[in-house]
Amino acid sequence: MSLNFLITGGCGFIGSEAVRQISDLGHNVYNIDNLSYASSEESLINISASNYNFFKCNIADKNGVKECISKAQPNYILNFAAESHVDRSIDGPEDFVQTNIVGTYNLLNESLSYYSSLPSKDKTSFKFIHISTDEVYGSLNFDDKAFSELDPFRPNSPYSASKASSDLLVRAWNKTFDFPAIITHSSNNYGPWQYPEKLIPLTVSNALKGNPIEIYGKGLNVRDWIFVKDHVEALLNVAFDGAIGETYNIGSNFEISNIDLVERIIATLTKFEAPKDGFYNDLITFVEDRPGHDLRYALNTNKITKELSWSPKVDIEEGLEITIKWMLSNKEWLLNKSKDHMRLGLKKK
Ligand code: NAD
Repeated sequence: MSLNFLITGGCGFIGSEAVRQISDLGHNVYNIDNLSYASSEESLINISASNYNFFKCNIADKNGVKECISKAQPNYILNFAAESHVDRSIDGPEDFVQTNIVGTYNLLNESLSYYSSLPSKDKTSFKFIHISTDEVYGSLNFDDKAFSELDPFRPNSPYSASKASSDLLVRAWNKTFDFPAIITHSSNNYGPWQYPEKLIPLTVSNALKGNPIEIYGKGLNVRDWIFVKDHVEALLNVAFDGAIGETYNIGSNFEISNIDLVERIIATLTKFEAPKDGFYNDLITFVEDRPGHDLRYALNTNKITKELSWSPKVDIEEGLEITIKWMLSNKEWLLNKSKDHMRLGLKKK
C-alpha cells in the first residue's frame, strides 16, 4: 500500500536521501523545503514525478505549513529541516533559533492540529519522527562510556543547544498532548550530496583545488561516522516499527579522530585522482581550535539493534570509496558549492 510521507528539509543532504529511498519504495513524498543555501534541488532530479510533490515553504510559516499538511494528508512526518552547521551557529546563532526551535514548534503545532482531526483508525497509523543529533548529549572524554538514550542533554554549541531545545519540545508534545512522536539521535553522516562546508566534502574539494586542508587544533577530536544510506534505513525502521514516545540512537560504532579521517580521505582520493604535483597531505594545515569544540562523541546503539534489528551495512572504507567516487563524478557541483573557508566562526576573530 502506498503511504504519504511529509518530509521537511528534503532538498538537504540527509533529507534528499530519505526522499529517494521512500520514493523508491513506491510511497508518495511531499517535500517541504525553503531552499536555503544548503539545499540541492539537483539531488532529486531522478525522482519519479508521479509520486513526488514539492512545496517551497519555511517550517516556521504557520499558514504555509498548515496548507502543505492539508495537501499531503501524511501518514508519517519526518522532520529533517534545520540549520545544521556548527561553525555557522557560532557566527550567527539567530537562524538556528528561528528554524530549529521556532520552526519545530510551528511544525509540531500544525501537525498536532492535523493529527487531532484524523478519524481514530488513521490516528493509530500516524507518526512524527524528529531527526536529531548525538551533539545534544555534549562531549565525552576519551575513556568515557558511549552516550545512551538515558544520558542527560549537555549541549555546548548554539547548534546543539537549538537541536536539544527542539527535542525537548517534541518530547513535551508527546507527553502533554499524546502526540505520537519519536526522536532519533544520529552520529556524523557522510555520503553523496553533502554540502561542502562539512569535513569530508570540504577536505576533498580543498584537496582538488590545491587549497589548505584546515584542521582544528591538533585534529584529535573524535567522531562516530555513519554512511547516510544506513542512517535513512534506520529512520525508516524507526518510522515503521519504532515505539511512540521513545528515542533511538543511530550510529556506526566506528570512531575516528579528525586527523586520522582526513588522512583516510586523502588516501582514498589519491587512489582515484592523484594530485597534479606533490601530495595532498602537504595541504594539511592546523588552525586555531573551534570555541567550545566537543572532544568526542560516541553512541551506544544497543537499543535500536535489539528492538528494531537494525545495524549499519556500510563500513568506512566502502562508504568513503562510494562518496569520493561520487564527488569525482560530480566535481562541478562540489567545486561550485564549496567555499574556500568553512571556518566562519573563526574568520571574524
Ligand atoms: P542540511 O543542512 O544538508 O539540509 C537541511 C535542509 O533543510 C536544506 O535543504 C534546507 O534548505 C532545509 N531548511 C533549512 N531551514 C529550513 C526552514 N526554515 N524551512 C524549511 N526547510 C529548511 O542538513 P542535513 O545534514 O541533511 O541534516 C538534516 C537533519 O539531520 C538536521 O535536522 C540535522 O540536525 C540532523 N543531523 C545531521 C547530521 C549530519 O551529520 N549531517 C547528524 C545528525 C543529525
